[in-house]
This record gives sequence, C-alpha cells and structure tokens, in this order.
Amino acid sequence: MKISRRTLLKITGFSAVAVAMIPRVAFAARNLLRNVRTGVQPGNKTRLVIETSARPSYEISYPTNQIVITLSNTAANPDLSPKMASGTLVRAITQAQSGDTLKIIADLTKPAAEIPRDSIMLLSPNGDNDYRLVLDFAAASGAVAATTQQQKTTALSRKYVVVIDAGHGGKDPGCIGKGGTQEKNIVLSVAKKLKTKLDAAGFQTYLTRSNDTYLKLAQRASIGEKRHADLFLSLHANANPSRAMKGFSIYTLSEKASDEEAQKLADAENAADKIDVSGFEQFDKDIRIALSSLQQHAVAEMSVEYANGAASAFKRAKITQQPGPDVRHAPFAVLRSTVPGALIELGHLSNASEEKLLKTAAHQNKLVDAIVKSVRAYNFDV
Ligand SMILES: [Zn+2]
Repeated sequence: MKISRRTLLKITGFSAVAVAMIPRVAFAARNLLRNVRTGVQPGNKTRLVIETSARPSYEISYPTNQIVITLSNTAANPDLSPKMASGTLVRAITQAQSGDTLKIIADLTKPAAEIPRDSIMLLSPNGDNDYRLVLDFAAASGAVAATTQQQKTTALSRKYVVVIDAGHGGKDPGCIGKGGTQEKNIVLSVAKKLKTKLDAAGFQTYLTRSNDTYLKLAQRASIGEKRHADLFLSLHANANPSRAMKGFSIYTLSEKASDEEAQKLADAENAADKIDVSGFEQFDKDIRIALSSLQQHAVAEMSVEYANGAASAFKRAKITQQPGPDVRHAPFAVLRSTVPGALIELGHLSNASEEKLLKTAAHQNKLVDAIVKSVRAYNFDV
C-alpha cells in the first residue's frame, strides 16, 4: 500500500472512514511529520524546516557533525523525501522512530554552532503550510569545529508556554454581582496570582491583559498564537438567573454546544465582542481556514484532556462545582485558535455567598492552586 497518510487525508478529509482506512501504527501519534526541507539563508546560514501536522514538542541536540531534533509523540513519514537545497551544511537527513518519539537526524559537513533559543522559530499554519519548526544555523567557529570524538549533546528543552486570559476588561465589566463586584476585576486578580505561581513552577506565562483594558476576543486568541502557547486559559466568573446557582464550570471549544446552558453561556461571553466591532474579524476567519480538520481534532482532544484534569483538580480542592458534567463544550470565540485550552468559570457572582467568596484572597488562592495543579498534571508532551 503506497498511498501516504497525508494523501489519504487530503482525498477523504478527516472522517471516521479515513481513520479506519489508515494502517494502524503501534501508538496513537498526535503529530505527523509532514515535510522536511533545507535552504540557504543570508550570513552563510543553513535553514532546516520541519513541518508537522500539530504543534510540535521538541528538543534539539548537537552530536558531532549532526543536529538531532527529537519530536515527542510523532509518527515518522516513510514516504517523505526531504527537499535538499545545495550549498547548505546538511549532507543527509534521516528519520528514526523509537516508540512514540521521532528523531530527525541531520548529518552535517561541519559541526554546527548551537542555535540560540530565541532565534528558533515555531510558525503556526498558514496557506498550504502546517506547523513549521524553523532552525537557522551556521558552522561552529574555530575550536569548537576541531575534530573531537567526544559527543557533545546539549538538550535544549524549552519551557512550556501558558497564556492566561483574564476575561472582559475596560468598558466591558463582564457580569456584576448584587454586591457590585465586577467579573473583570475578579478574573484579573486571579490571573495575576496564577501568573506568579505558574512562573514559580517553571512555566513561561503571558497575560492577555495585565490591567483594566478592553480586548476583543480574537485579539486574545491571537496572543496565544503569537506566543506559541502550549495552553490557553480564559478565566471568567458566571451569572445565572437563579441566584441559588453556584459553583465552577469548565468549557472547551466546539462548534456545537454540548447543552443549551453551555450555548447560552457562550452567547453571553461572545457578546463581549459586540461592544466594539472593528478589526479582528479577519484574524478569526484566517485561523478557522488555517485549521485543518485533523488539527482541529488534535487541538480539541488536548483541550478536553486538560479540562478533565482541571475539573478533577478543582474537585480535589473541594471547590464547589456547578451541577452538570465535568466538562462542557460550546463555541467560545476566545478559544478559537490552534492552541489547546479551556474557559474556566471560577464561580457565580450572581450568588451572594459566592460573590463574597470570590473577592477574598484566600479563595482566589485556592482557585489558583487548583489551576496550577491542573497545569502541572497536564501532559504537554503527547
Ligand atoms: Zn465572562
């Protein structure tokens, strides 16, 4: 059978039928190697581009005369022949699968200088391209280039990136409790505490807003994209016509809501964009087009996995849960991106006792600690 998985996906689209036709691999890889190519860059640099179907989790090492890129939970592509430009440092490229790890080994004519971390590019899908890991490197200078039999392996493992989105802000207060508490202030306070604790736990975090400003939903999502986030957490607090209703609830993106209540909530949260309509609609559209159904499937799967873990962490912390399923789904505009993530409703401002609770530092810390646990427990690598 010579038809590649990619060709098959192109012909059939990602559907139950297509999945059934694909030869089974020994593990359920979340990522597929799509393409490898080399090119020449200014400054006598070699460019190596590795294209994958989903956001890659990678390490780079530099054995003598090689660059090895190790991709977690990625399937080799036996039909792939790398496109090799002439005049680069790369002599040959091979793939080596070991369990669910795929090594891409570039044999070089000379040892390469280590690539500074901040010059490694990870590009999100656009047009005909999937995710691209772009490595530009030059030959190592002088002493380093001397022939040595010793292997020099420096694992370059990056920090996982979490984008924390405090909902609403500025002219959009979000929901308002009977005691006058505004959602935008509660979630900003929790977001800042969460950032501090996740930073301390070794994550690289970014806030979509760090003060009382208004941002459109697509702008928030685009921050996740630009920061190459591994996880996107949108924090909110809820209101319900029934003042007795209380508890947290957790949501992931789906175009169809899991229930009527989830749809109503998505409508309410999405209404934030109706306050000011300009500018970012195109981004939203582009992202939706760029996401192949296979990527959407992978992102949704990872999001649900995170959300389930988050619900468990909240319950273990004995935080009151809103009655209903642990994780619900709805078309939240803020979650529409290539970054796995969830929207967390921390509690109900419409409930008098919960409104009081949400204002206290003690309860905010309890919420933050549960979220930190859920992020630590999330398996970023697979
Ligand atoms: Zn909200």
